[in-house]
Amino acid sequence: MYIQEDKVEKIRESNDIVDVISDYVSLQKKGKNYFGLCPFHKEKTPSFSVLQDKQIFHCFGCGAGGNVISFIMKYRNVDFIEAVKILAERANIDIYEGNDYNYQLKKENKEKVYEVIKEAARFFYRNLQKDQSALHYFKNRGISSDIVKKFGLGYALNSWDSLNKYLTDKGYKTDLMEKAGLIIKKSDGKYYDRFRNRVMFPVFNVGGKIIGFGGRVLDDSKPKYLNSPETIVFNKRNNLYALNIAVSGGNDRRIIIVEGYMDAIALHQYGIKSVVASLGTSLTKEQAKLLKRYCDEVLICYDSDVAGQTATLRGLDILTDAGFKVKIICIPKGKDPDEYIRAEGKDAFLKCIEGAMPLIEYKIKREAEKFDISTTEGKIGFTNSCARIIKETNNPVVIDAYVSKVSLDTGISAQALYDEIARAETADGAHDKKDSGYNYDIDGQKLYLEAAYIKAERFILYILYSRREFFSLIEKRLSWEDFNDETYKKTAEIMYRFIKNGKSIVPGEIIDSFKNDDEMKKVSSIFSMELADDSNLEKMINDYIDLIDKTKLKKIKTDLMQKMKVYEKEGDVRKSAELLKKIIDIEKQLKVR
Ligand SMILES: [Zn+2]
Repeated sequence: MYIQEDKVEKIRESNDIVDVISDYVSLQKKGKNYFGLCPFHKEKTPSFSVLQDKQIFHCFGCGAGGNVISFIMKYRNVDFIEAVKILAERANIDIYEGNDYNYQLKKENKEKVYEVIKEAARFFYRNLQKDQSALHYFKNRGISSDIVKKFGLGYALNSWDSLNKYLTDKGYKTDLMEKAGLIIKKSDGKYYDRFRNRVMFPVFNVGGKIIGFGGRVLDDSKPKYLNSPETIVFNKRNNLYALNIAVSGGNDRRIIIVEGYMDAIALHQYGIKSVVASLGTSLTKEQAKLLKRYCDEVLICYDSDVAGQTATLRGLDILTDAGFKVKIICIPKGKDPDEYIRAEGKDAFLKCIEGAMPLIEYKIKREAEKFDISTTEGKIGFTNSCARIIKETNNPVVIDAYVSKVSLDTGISAQALYDEIARAETADGAHDKKDSGYNYDIDGQKLYLEAAYIKAERFILYILYSRREFFSLIEKRLSWEDFNDETYKKTAEIMYRFIKNGKSIVPGEIIDSFKNDDEMKKVSSIFSMELADDSNLEKMINDYIDLIDKTKLKKIKTDLMQKMKVYEKEGDVRKSAELLKKIIDIEKQLKVR
């Protein structure tokens, strides 16, 4: 998908960065800027700043930075297009407005499907109120009429065509009902109702529209659950049951995921509200993305058999990869959450939540069940499995903690585990360390280190932005191609061009020329600079240009020396002598400066 540039600009301008970030981070005004605790690294004193006049954010702790779009990309873990869409929605701007006929058509079709589904839900709801045996199903499970209403629970009659007839009387066409997944066409061309003799659970999207249904039999017949098929409005992979309700009252950015409709409803009945059901047992990337908007911690509360299945564990890894803190709630006695809370009460369930196990610990526990560690083979097998699981965290502190825990619990020596982790590590290939100004210290904490020339180049760019009158002085000594850092070279090219054309430099616009996170970070840090003292600006500029020049010369020198070595190896004395002359020349220049 492509969004026109002027539209992106309009969306950016309609979303004040302080307003947007305030939705996620509590900000305090200090001077003309705002400060808060950085959402991208752990800290106790605020080093995360939002500059309203420049419409950018910058963290002095971890270097994160960018404009309002990059903030959304980073915070919600979405791509550029998705971030623009979120902001468009926030500012009530239609990104498709006026230029896409197909989109309009699709939108109208969708509206009609929503409408017929809503009418069907009304029908099911009224049926339930009139049917004692169906009502009994919920009453027996302790569900109050308030909750029935809140979740729009209903009942599909034991009939082949009651819904079809009802909707036809209301003036809806059969092809629309079919499109909405409510009726099915038989081979003889006649239609029958998809849901018959089932209690009905409408599935809402997060905006509160009904998009489909789940239906459960009242007895033991099969299939136990029947869901709406994929339609133009319903996609199981993109939705979570009850998410609209779970996020409606605000939550502490922690959501419990259960398996079934009834599990979610039962927990709500007991006042545990941040609960959604996964509409299937394996979580998808799309669902993780959706959840990311509303929480940072996910508690999985599946039937213990199900939770341990490989497919489910893979789903949980998807959550971990998406940056969630993932924990597993283990319900005692193999019960499902619905049964358990009804039998033992809310407090017992809250205890289970408190005792939730981090995902790694859960995986290790499951491995422990597979091996008999009183035998040597068992010990070896368990050590290997543990090493693989622990290694996945990539965090030295966490690794240490688990190594000592496993060692303590099992008597396997910590050294054996470390050795195995190191082996698993090399088997996977060395971890690529980023060379973008980051370094890792022994605790695995990210440290922000950078070369002096990067600081110098940033300073020059800042001067171009804030003190345009120095442009001719700078340009005389430094062309944009002289910048050593690739990101800053590109920034310089844009700024030089803008200044020559008399165009003003808007930080948000410059940042938009970069799509990658590290680049945006680097560029936004230009605009978050402040001059402490501008009494001797001209000298500072010249000093920094010297430094940039020197860096460039040093780079050329290194290149030449490498080439010279090649010629020496090949025995080409004449060429290597030529290069040596050049190198000496550069060394002289370096000394003068
Ligand atoms: Zn930070």
